[in-house]
Amino acid sequence: MQLNLVKNIEGLQQALAGLKTQGSVGFVPTMGALHAGHASLIKRASERSKNVVVSVFVNPIQFGPNEDFAKYPKMLEKDMETAKAAGASLIYAPSAGDIYPEGFSTSISAGDMSKILDGAFRPGHFDGVATVVAKLLLRVLPQVVVFGEKDYQQLCVIRRVVRDLDLPVEIIAAPTMRETGGLAMSSRNAYLTPEERKTAPEIYITLRETAKRIKAGVPHRHATAEGVDKLSSMGFKVDYLELRDAATLDLIESLERPARLLVAAWLGSTRLIDNIVIG
Ligand code: AMP
Repeated sequence: MQLNLVKNIEGLQQALAGLKTQGSVGFVPTMGALHAGHASLIKRASERSKNVVVSVFVNPIQFGPNEDFAKYPKMLEKDMETAKAAGASLIYAPSAGDIYPEGFSTSISAGDMSKILDGAFRPGHFDGVATVVAKLLLRVLPQVVVFGEKDYQQLCVIRRVVRDLDLPVEIIAAPTMRETGGLAMSSRNAYLTPEERKTAPEIYITLRETAKRIKAGVPHRHATAEGVDKLSSMGFKVDYLELRDAATLDLIESLERPARLLVAAWLGSTRLIDNIVIG
């Protein structure tokens, strides 16, 4: 399959006009530095669509002032190889000016769900995500869009935005791809020192242990507090480790409804997030 690269809305629209004569279009939005997790999303999209469009855009408005926007890894040529091997037909790698032209001033407020968990630690983050995803969806107008469960709260927020704003697209959720040892693949893993890289899988090990204890009947606040203690003793600085309703992300007291255990923790200067299903 041939892979084309476009860098602005005009190029995108021209390329899409051609692709849409061939059949359905699937879409995978990313911030680049593609790894096997992203590739699995592209493969999932290509199972459902004739052509897959991948966007590579490090969205400035979803980063806080002291976050890693400036140092976020960029490697478009390698990304093109990865996307091509996974079955993509088109990469859309716009500039910030293409997405947010002079005078841009509208944004989506993603509601209560965007203010808890990661939203509490990264104010405005999900409004930035919702705004760029809505713009990208309206530019590409795909039949299906694939998001990873790795960013579980993002997936929930996007589901809500798509439903609330009647965006005409089907959302597919893809499971988290992990390194051997369990660390969730992430572009940010590149920031880890070799020593931190050895410790990082503990975040997933602790998630699994905590989930097991909750399922065995240990009160979840007790089990998560112990999980936080364990991670702290290993050098993590935990932002949260919480049991939440899998659909609404509300706090829950029991496992009557499908639940998700979510964690965010710093290891040195790298912030890692992960989550697993319980049930
Ligand atoms: P990002 O480039 O980090 O913004 O992620 C782009 C998309 O890839 C999002 O839908 C992520 O949830 C998804 N993704 C990132 N890491 C993984 C992973 N390890 N497994 C599956 N999907 C992932």
